[in-house]
Amino acid sequence: MLYVRTDSENGVITFTPINNDNVYIHCSKCGFMEKVDDLLDFVEELGEANLEAKAFDICKECFEKECRREEAYLEQQKNREIQR
Ligand SMILES: [Zn+2]
Repeated sequence: MLYVRTDSENGVITFTPINNDNVYIHCSKCGFMEKVDDLLDFVEELGEANLEAKAFDICKECFEKECRREEAYLEQQKNREIQR
């Protein structure tokens, strides 16, 4: 079993077991704490992305917003190309 150690300000040390049900992502965009659905899946994806993908730093909602923004941008670029 893996544990997370937390040192609180009053000197109390707490160890919390990590399980498939208590790991969260803190969204760097909106500050939302989103539950990780499947920890093992998540860790596997992290490994594949070498801990660099920014998708792991934001919640699903913000990720989808980002994707839509990117799609809209690409669509815009495409339309611009056609107009030339
Ligand atoms: Zn978010």
